[in-house]
Amino acid sequence: MGSSPISLQTVLCAPGVRGRRATAFRKDGLTEFMQSIMFKKQELKEPFYVLDLGVVVSLFDKWTRSLPTVRPFYAVKCNPEPALLGALAALGANFDCASRAEIEAVLALGVKPDRIVYANPCKPESHIKYAASVGVNLTTFDSRDEIQKIRKWHPKCDLLLRIKAPEDGGARCPLGPKYGALPDEIAPLLQAALAAGLSVTGVSFHIGSGDTHSRAYHGAIAAAKTVFETATGLGVPKMNVLNIGGGFTADPKFDEAASVVKSALQTYFPNEPGLSVISEPGRFFAESAFTLATNVIGKRVRDELREYWINDGIYGSMNCILYDHATVTCTPLACTSNRANPTCKGLRTYNSTVFGPTCDALDTVLTGYQLPELQVNDWLVFPNMGAYTAAAGSSFNGFNTASILTHLAYCNPT
Ligand SMILES: *Cc1c(COP(=O)(O)O)cnc(C)c1O
Repeated sequence: MGSSPISLQTVLCAPGVRGRRATAFRKDGLTEFMQSIMFKKQELKEPFYVLDLGVVVSLFDKWTRSLPTVRPFYAVKCNPEPALLGALAALGANFDCASRAEIEAVLALGVKPDRIVYANPCKPESHIKYAASVGVNLTTFDSRDEIQKIRKWHPKCDLLLRIKAPEDGGARCPLGPKYGALPDEIAPLLQAALAAGLSVTGVSFHIGSGDTHSRAYHGAIAAAKTVFETATGLGVPKMNVLNIGGGFTADPKFDEAASVVKSALQTYFPNEPGLSVISEPGRFFAESAFTLATNVIGKRVRDELREYWINDGIYGSMNCILYDHATVTCTPLACTSNRANPTCKGLRTYNSTVFGPTCDALDTVLTGYQLPELQVNDWLVFPNMGAYTAAAGSSFNGFNTASILTHLAYCNPT
């Protein structure tokens, strides 16, 4: 993946990045870089992340090329690592924040409040007051009670009506059961906002997160168009924001999703001067940019079965297996037991179980997984660990996810 050197330079000077060491590695050199950390800096053998800033630049380029008319507001909840936020801010992304602390984290990077959408349809009053005090003036709602809270604490805030996407997006994490106005709630909510003197400037939806069907964007954009028409019929001043939410992945399915979005925009919102189309991608920017290294801290052999304990698990980064319904994969780095062939190429493998470090049997990361014979102090490396991982980890049993270090790196294209 080639990334433009100018963008990379911008990212390296970004708040959240500058002042931290960012190591250049050569093409396909990520494993070697991780080994250098394992050898030099890791007497304690703590787990660590590598954030590849070059991947972030490439993904941002990809977004801009595929969906040039759709402005991304990165969903901070997916991974709030300051270097990722800073890199995205420097590249020109805006932000979707869902709480006071997320807004604070983004403002702390010098991002202006008009680059934030407070995209939580149900907000604590104290957080609404805070948003008003710092000038975050765009939020979402899907209930009458939310209208009353906003009228009381932030009446100048522009509102986006969050609707439930009509089609099941097939997502691993559907959001429809919790959020989004139903079709027959739309007119009453628009009227209630109008009566409260609030300004509804657009529509938002989220088709669900993870493994979504791209076609769901089409139905949701069509439904949004209906809301624009309903609003016009009710005398709501002309709306000008369409927020198509998240649900994008960085794999080849992104191209498919982008083309569905483009064709639906063409069908339902052709030549709409002044329409601002925005989105809230989280997983798209975060998932593939982070690689996690964990250390093998224990081993048990039962006949042919090999059982390993590592120092991160279900209560830490791998909470994604429970909450995000993710499937994780790993590769061995036998830096300690096999320095001549640390990736264990060509070695026989065993049916293996990988446990996390806590005393709960639920804390099991992989079962029936093929791994070579490893020893205590070897490493297991998990790619694509940037989305909904460390962000939702705990410190259960004293294994504190928040203390896992993130090393910054980038592939030097030359
Ligand atoms: C979680 C969330 C997102 C991000 O979703 P992804 O599937 O990670 O892109 C965007 N918007 C809202 C409102 C969310 O709750």
